[in-house]
Amino acid sequence: MATRFVSTRGGSAAGVSFEEALLQGIASDGGLFVPAGIPVIPKALWTDAATLDALAIPVLDRWIGDEFEPGALASILREALDFPVPLVPAGGGVYGEETYVLELFHGPTLSFKDVGARTMARLMAYFLARRGRRLTILVATSGDTGSAVADGFAGLDAIDVVLLYPRGRVSPIQELQLIHKRPGVRALAIEGTFDDCQRLVKQAFLDPELASLPLSSANSINIGRLLPQMLYYLWGAAQGAWSTPPSFCVPSGNLGNLSAGVLAHLSGMPVRRFVAAHNENDFFPRYLAGEEAAFGPSVTTPSSAMDVGAPSNFERLDWLLDAERMRRLIRGERVDNAATLEAMRAVRDETGYLADPHTAVGFEAVRRQRAAGDVSPFVVLSTAHPAKFVEIVEEALGFAPDMPARLAAYRDAETDVLAMPADYPIFRQFLRDASPGS
Ligand SMILES: *Cc1c(COP(=O)(O)O)cnc(C)c1O
Repeated sequence: MATRFVSTRGGSAAGVSFEEALLQGIASDGGLFVPAGIPVIPKALWTDAATLDALAIPVLDRWIGDEFEPGALASILREALDFPVPLVPAGGGVYGEETYVLELFHGPTLSFKDVGARTMARLMAYFLARRGRRLTILVATSGDTGSAVADGFAGLDAIDVVLLYPRGRVSPIQELQLIHKRPGVRALAIEGTFDDCQRLVKQAFLDPELASLPLSSANSINIGRLLPQMLYYLWGAAQGAWSTPPSFCVPSGNLGNLSAGVLAHLSGMPVRRFVAAHNENDFFPRYLAGEEAAFGPSVTTPSSAMDVGAPSNFERLDWLLDAERMRRLIRGERVDNAATLEAMRAVRDETGYLADPHTAVGFEAVRRQRAAGDVSPFVVLSTAHPAKFVEIVEEALGFAPDMPARLAAYRDAETDVLAMPADYPIFRQFLRDASPGS
């Protein structure tokens, strides 16, 4: 079937294909791409699948299948979604009985961003090969996105990745993941902050002197990352024997993950509601509570991957749901830094589960729903493995989490990184020299 994609800002009224939306990233009027019509996914398509990729194939076929040669979408999805996504019981005590964790961190870089990034990379590679074109992906990252994107795109023909991270401002293990030597990927350690990295990338996109370089981005405003993220909601919903439809609690920053859940719901997945669990970056909970809320600068917290003051996917949610329906469907919670560390301890004590700081924000949000009398089933999305945040686990719990072998392997692996000042002319020259066409 042919889903068309339109801009949240009303431009491209006729809509573009998925291929166009994916490769453009952002609509020409500056808006985000949203589906002009949402296909209804018959329940049997997702309730009967034995694996995530087996679920993914018929579901995404309903959305975008007509844009692929026969069999191509299926092989992309089989290759991208080749890791388990277990639904783990984690109830008990103040967290209630029917509480589960959907562990999204079993991919190669141990964060949920592997799902979207691996799939998007292969989708892009497919369309670029068909067009005979090349692309350079620029990513500014403060942690998980960069390594998931670099890993997802590494070694794919026709795509080069340049990733920029603020030197010394990511966790030690995250840095090892970022500078891991990968074919087709250059890591730049920028002498500056995350905002400096983002500024350099934005300047490059707007620079008329680089207009001839085929540049694109891979952050969560790209619809190509969101469609695959719907799949694990359907998967989680299909795994449980629920007494009533579950609620999903989503540790949130840029609101991409939550937007994907809302898309899954609008395409037919029953839910009681969503809970948007935020840290001290609390624009969205305040908005949902009816406060006069505005985007602001980001605040540093222990759940650093959610330190987003201006969540770009809010514009998408706002388009998908009118204000009244949004407030009925989504509840917001703000969890401060002390409550995050306290939740890491309480979750461990009451349920035995070891939650990373992001997942702990989700648990605390669930605890508050329980305290308010909600006994319905809950699924907390676990967005990262605790071993990615060793220092914070140690601070909260007094011990270091076990390091999975594939994370420990980064310590011994070959690295490749170039230090660079936060200086646009130097960055531009680097892009010119690095681009294959120059
Ligand atoms: C990116 C990230 C989030 C936030 O997801 P959004 O889609 O930006 O809301 C939460 N937890 C972890 C570990 C992340 O890497």
